[in-house]
Amino acid sequence: TKWVYRFGNGSADGAADMKNLLGGKGANLAEMSNLGLPVPPGFTITTEVCTYYYDHGKAYPEALQSQVNDALEAIGAITGRRFGDQTLPLLLSVRSGARVSMPGMMDTVLNLGLNDETVKAIAASSGDERFAWDSYRRFIQMYSDVVMGLEHHDFEEILEEHKAEKGYSLDTEITAQEWAGIVEKFKALVDEELGRPFPQDPQEQLWGAIGAVFGSWETPRAKTYRRLHDIPSTWGTAVNVQAMVFGNMGETSATGVAFTRNPSTGDKRLYGEFLVNAQGEDVVAGIRTPQDITEVARIEAGSEAPSLEALMPEAFAEFQTICDKLEAHYRDMQDLEFTIEKGKLWMLQTRSGKRTAKAALKIAVDMVGEGLLSEQEAVMRVEPAALDQLLHPTIAPDAERTIFATGLPASPGAASGAIVFSSDEAEAAKASGQKVILVRIETSPEDIHGMHAAEGILTSRGGMTSHAAVVARGMGKPCVSGAGMLRIDYRQGTVSAGGKTFRSGDVITIDGASGQVLAGEVAMQQPTLSGDFGILMGWADKVRRMKVRANAETPQDAKVARNFGAEGIGLCRTEHMFFDGDRILAVREMILAETEKGRRNALSKLLPMQRRDFIDLFKIMQGLPVTIRLLDPPLHEFLPKTPAELNEVASAMNVPVDALRERAIALEEFNPMLGHRGCRLLVSYPEIAEMQARAIFEAAVASAKESGSAIVPEIMVPLVGLKGELDLVREAIVKTAEAVMAESGTTIEYQVGTMVELPRAALQAAEIAKSAEFFSFGTNDLTQTTFGISRDDASSFLGTYQAKGLIEQDPFVSLDQDGVGELVKIGAERGRSTRPDIKLGICGEHGGDPASIRFCESVGLDYVSCSPFRVPIARLAAAQAAL
Ligand code: ADP
Ligand code: MG
Ligand code: MG
Repeated sequence: TKWVYRFGNGSADGAADMKNLLGGKGANLAEMSNLGLPVPPGFTITTEVCTYYYDHGKAYPEALQSQVNDALEAIGAITGRRFGDQTLPLLLSVRSGARVSMPGMMDTVLNLGLNDETVKAIAASSGDERFAWDSYRRFIQMYSDVVMGLEHHDFEEILEEHKAEKGYSLDTEITAQEWAGIVEKFKALVDEELGRPFPQDPQEQLWGAIGAVFGSWETPRAKTYRRLHDIPSTWGTAVNVQAMVFGNMGETSATGVAFTRNPSTGDKRLYGEFLVNAQGEDVVAGIRTPQDITEVARIEAGSEAPSLEALMPEAFAEFQTICDKLEAHYRDMQDLEFTIEKGKLWMLQTRSGKRTAKAALKIAVDMVGEGLLSEQEAVMRVEPAALDQLLHPTIAPDAERTIFATGLPASPGAASGAIVFSSDEAEAAKASGQKVILVRIETSPEDIHGMHAAEGILTSRGGMTSHAAVVARGMGKPCVSGAGMLRIDYRQGTVSAGGKTFRSGDVITIDGASGQVLAGEVAMQQPTLSGDFGILMGWADKVRRMKVRANAETPQDAKVARNFGAEGIGLCRTEHMFFDGDRILAVREMILAETEKGRRNALSKLLPMQRRDFIDLFKIMQGLPVTIRLLDPPLHEFLPKTPAELNEVASAMNVPVDALRERAIALEEFNPMLGHRGCRLLVSYPEIAEMQARAIFEAAVASAKESGSAIVPEIMVPLVGLKGELDLVREAIVKTAEAVMAESGTTIEYQVGTMVELPRAALQAAEIAKSAEFFSFGTNDLTQTTFGISRDDASSFLGTYQAKGLIEQDPFVSLDQDGVGELVKIGAERGRSTRPDIKLGICGEHGGDPASIRFCESVGLDYVSCSPFRVPIARLAAAQAAL
């Protein structure tokens, strides 16, 4: 078996389409080599080795050692150096690389192969002592941290102590001699902490690093990330071993990262940061403030530090050419890493760049214009869930801004919240319902959970490509990074700037668009959707098969839904209309009445109000379908709770309070969600269905007269389990329709259908469909009733279930396709078997979840219905599902 794939010198064994075997980084290094780009030679140990390693009690395949040695020889032949050589030693970088980039994996080890002897050889061959010792100390620091598990921090302390002693402020001031002394201290620290010396044998170093990469695949952090992102553990990681090139060889050397287009706005302009005389992660770690790559960006930022374009024009020109070439080749915006060694450019990585939703839309639309993509490809390029970012509030233009500090506009949107200084605090606060802003000097992969929990992220260090910035953009959270004037004191729980101090718990607002940090809570405005958004949604709508409706009952919600392109209302919950103002009183009268006459009396008060609601709703929906669900919740929920409420109802009904109290107690239920609710109420009290149907039909007549466009109301009966239940309620509806038609002298078109939210309904769908013109799968309740768990109580154990791997996702967020989905499928098939043209839809949270929407497409539902703000997401997800 071939376990090792080589690249470099204008060719490679692998290619970009071999990500499964070589990991993302390895496949793209191979591709760049094949394209003839300057890539330091190296090789990739395949993901199959990782799988083998874990299948065989952490042992390597036999042939691996010799394949690695051969590949090392090949690198040596290209570079004219040999690994472990005493005169011209080859130094290596060892880099992890899974199919998708994954925090939690081993960090890169650079300068591997250095030891007490080879460091002298490097000094002699480069003629640069300082560079040699700087590289050696970096290597010890990185290797000890990443492979041997020592704290990075302990090494930093030695370094800081030395600088303080000498009065230096920058690492670059430290001399070769001094670095050599620091190296001795570093080695002593390793010996002391681990009871064994720092490994001097390059082979031992190399296999140690390779083992660490494979080992990091099963760390808790990597496992958590895989669980959150549905990455199977069987994928494994690859290891990339590559000849070092040096960005730390003085003033003509540099290292940097770039995006071929602006990842925040999508503007078609090279965008990136670099540092002179630096190596590897210095740029993203925020140790020094990086400089802009292009002159335009430098001028715009008003920065004094020269751009790469000005400092190294030749390397810059070559880099720009390469960027254009890679973008055209991959037909996507690229995120690049490069190093310049003594003026010579080397490419170290390329991949599809992470971007904001705004940038994703702009880039997709621009690339269609540039002829790089088709419209359908563009539709596939935007992550539906990411659109959520565009639907985020921003700071109102006329809001007063008390600016506390300013950093980089790292991720758009604005957010207010209480300050927390750690990710654990953020998570705890979120759990208790508090909105927080996570304030950190910088973030690391350990902060993912805190960033998830926070409304926004603020850091004092790090550029636009820092961890905080990249991750926040990916999550769609507002972020301000690199606000350098902030003094953050974790121990005191304070953050100060310009003489002002905020404490943990104080409320601040961050504006990811301007980079401002503002005191207190600030007024926000709702987003307007940009031109690119409309264009892309237009393309999506062209290929979409399923309709998208909204769950809405208020005129406000209905308007939002229409603006976002909803094609009707899939669920109008009438009970929400019952809680309003003095209506609740009439509702209480109705449910507490002892007789049908009493109930009818109360219902007649509700009728005109309900009618008004529907007239308003129909007007906004202008002839689009509206599904109205009859009263669903248990009466229990409407019962008067306080003595004052009880008194109020008693006097309105003109009955003694005591009698009323008894009736209320009699109506209380132990388990209301499985109690007297849904169609069971309508079976007991058909007059409720009659009143609601009358309100609907009269509204339909009125709005047809007013606007001329007839609406076809779809009346939905909830919680049906028996065909007979539906038939009884249906009878009341039909009777009412006929009465209203006779009274008004108009014909009314309407449909009666049911919600499928009990397993019995799904199983009996063939029977029920005989009486139902449509089904709407109520997957919230169907999930509760299928699992036998309550949505309100499940959070106490679902987390544990996820942690123990029993379930992958919260079934209330993403449809449980195996169980609940199976019932949906059965319901759809059996419903169609007796009524082939039955209309099928889904309401409930899942209607706005892209994975669930894909499932709905596969079952052939006619529409999905979701909350108004998720309508654009559902439109795009439905389009992608159809492609
Ligand atoms: P990550 O996946 O965290 O980006 P990488 O493997 O890309 O990790 O390595 C991080 C950084 O290390 C690179 O951006 C680059 O600056 C540096 N690096 C990696 N390989 C080499 C190399 N062969 N020569 C010089 N620097 C390297
Ligand atoms: Mg990288
Ligand atoms: Mg329900």
